[in-house]
Amino acid sequence: MIPKGENILHGIPAAPGIQIGKAYLYLRDIERVKEEKIIDVEEAIENLLFALEKSKKELKKIFNLAVDKLGSKRAAIFEAQIMILDDPILIQKIIERIKTEKKSSDFIVHDEISKYQKMMIDSNERYMTERSQDIEDIKNRIIRNIRRKKWVSRITDGAIIVAESISPADAVLFNRVNAKGYVTDFGGLTSHAAIVARSLDIPAVLGASEATININTGDDLIVDGFNGLVVINPTNEQLEYFNEKIKKLSEFDEELAKVKELPAETIDKHKVKLMGNLDFINELEVLINNGAEGIGLIRTEQLFDGLDEFPDEDQQFDIFKHIAESMYPHEIVIRTFDIGGDKVLPFDVKEDNPFLGWRGVRFLLDNLQLLKPQIKAILRAAVTKNVKMMVPMITSIKEVRRVKEIVNECREELEIEGKDCCNKSDFGIMIEVPSAVYIADDLSKEVGFFSIGTNDLIQYTLAVDRGNEIVSSLYQEFHPSIIRSLKKVIDDGKANGIEVSICGEMAGDPIAVPILVGLGIDSLSVSSYSLPRIKKIIRGIEFNIAKKLADKCLKLETEEEIQELVKKFYKNHFYDDVSQIFEDLNDNNGTD
Ligand code: PEP
Ligand code: MG
Repeated sequence: MIPKGENILHGIPAAPGIQIGKAYLYLRDIERVKEEKIIDVEEAIENLLFALEKSKKELKKIFNLAVDKLGSKRAAIFEAQIMILDDPILIQKIIERIKTEKKSSDFIVHDEISKYQKMMIDSNERYMTERSQDIEDIKNRIIRNIRRKKWVSRITDGAIIVAESISPADAVLFNRVNAKGYVTDFGGLTSHAAIVARSLDIPAVLGASEATININTGDDLIVDGFNGLVVINPTNEQLEYFNEKIKKLSEFDEELAKVKELPAETIDKHKVKLMGNLDFINELEVLINNGAEGIGLIRTEQLFDGLDEFPDEDQQFDIFKHIAESMYPHEIVIRTFDIGGDKVLPFDVKEDNPFLGWRGVRFLLDNLQLLKPQIKAILRAAVTKNVKMMVPMITSIKEVRRVKEIVNECREELEIEGKDCCNKSDFGIMIEVPSAVYIADDLSKEVGFFSIGTNDLIQYTLAVDRGNEIVSSLYQEFHPSIIRSLKKVIDDGKANGIEVSICGEMAGDPIAVPILVGLGIDSLSVSSYSLPRIKKIIRGIEFNIAKKLADKCLKLETEEEIQELVKKFYKNHFYDDVSQIFEDLNDNNGTD
C-alpha cells in the first residue's frame, strides 16, 4: 500500500508506467501589464534593449534544440519569432513611443505587439490566427525579460508536464523534449492525448482536477500511470515505495522481452494475430522490435500531424511504401484520415457537437480533394501486396458503397496516369458506431474486413464523451452492451467469412483480453509498447476456458459483475506468475 499523505492527487490512469521527476507547469499564462507613467526614459529603453537581446539569445537556443528534435519545418516557428525581435520598424516604434508617451516599456511592448496580433486574428485566416499565438509567446517573453523575471523555458528537458489539458499535438511536442510524464486537470482515458501518451510510452494521469493549482514548476513529482496517482513532493517513505515498484517494473520488462519472438497463441494453440497501432513513424521500429505481426491501424491524420498542409499523394505514397516494405510480409492497415471530433479540422468550422459532426468518412466524402490523393497513395503502395485500406466512422451501407466507387475511380485514374497500382487492395471498415453494429451482417458482405474501434464504439453506444473526465466512470468498456456488440460484430463477420479485428484501446487492456479471445476475435491491434504484455497474456490462457468466460460474460447484467468474473478467471486459470506482477502494480486505489 502506498504510504499515505495529503500530497496525493487522484486522476484517470491514462497511460501506464511510473516516473519520478521535476514538474513543469505548462500554462498558457499571460503577463499582465498596467499602463504606467515613468520618469526615467533612458532606463526604460535600456531595459527594453536588454530584454530584446536576452529574448533573442533564449530563442536561438530553443531554435537549435527544436531543429534537432522537431526538424527544421516545425522549428521555423522559433525562427519567425527571432525575426520579430529583429524587426527595426517595430523596435523603432516602441522606442519612439516610450520617449514621447513616457510610459513603461512593458506596456508599450504589449500594446504594439498586440496590434500586430489583432491584425492577424482579424485576417480570419486560420494560419494567421494560429501564428498570432506564437506572437503571444514572444510578447510574454520580452515582457518577462524587461521585468528581469527568470524565464522558465517552455521546453524544459525531461520534465513531467502538468497542464490544464494537452492536445495530441502538445503531447508529441513534449515527447520531443523528453517529457517523462503528463498530468492534466482535464481529459479522459481514450482522448487522443491519452492514446498519444500510450503510443509514446509516457505515463499519464489525466483528469486529476486541480493539478495545476496544487503543483508548481520545480516540484518533485511521482506519476503512477497504472493507478492514476500523482504524488507531490513525496516523503522518503513514498519515494522508497515507488522506487521499489520501478525496480519490479524493469524486472517485468525483462520477463516480457522473452515472449517477443514467440507466437501469440493460447496454451491450447489457438492463434490470435497480434498487431500494433502506429501513430508516429518512430513507432515503426518499436513495433518491429516488439514482434508485431503487422500494423492493424495506421492513424494517418496523426502520422502527418505537424505538417503545415495536408500531404500530397506522392508524400503519402513515400511513407506508406516505406512502412509496407519495413513490415513485409506482415500486412499493414492504412486508415484514411479520421479528422473532426477532437482531431482538429483543417478549416475554420465551429460545431456544437464535433463528435457527432463532420468527422471521419463524412468529412472525407465532402472533401474528395483530400480523400482521392490518399486513396491513390494507398493503392500505389499496395503493390507490395501487404497493404490494406480502412475507412473510419462508417454508419451506413451507402457510405461504404460511395467510398468503394471512389476507390474504383482512383484505380482507373491511376491506370490512365500510368502509375503502379495494385488492383486488389483489401478494403475494410471500422465498426465504431452503434448503427454499424446493427447492420454488421449487411456490411460484412460489402467489405474485406472489420476492425472494431472500441474507443468510439463505447462513446457512441453509451453516449459518454470519451475525453470528458466528469463522466469517465460512465465510460465502461465492460458494459454488457459493449460485450454483446462485440459478440454480434464478430459473429456477423465470421458468418460471412471476413476477418474481425479490434484496434481500440480495449484490445490492449489486460482485463479485456481473455474475453476478446474467448469471443473468437481474429486479431488484436494494440499500442506498440503493449505488444509483449498482451502476448504474454494470450500465451497464458486456454482458449476453451476463455470461451466459457466470454459466454458467461454475455449473460451478465452489469460491468462490475463482468470485471469481477475476469478477475476470478485470472486467479483461477492464469498459469503464470505474471498475474502476481499485475497485482503488485495495481494498488486498487489503496491509498486510504
Ligand atoms: C477507436 O475509435 O477505437 C479507434 C481505434 O479510432 P480512434 O481512437 O482513432 O478514434
Ligand atoms: Mg475511432
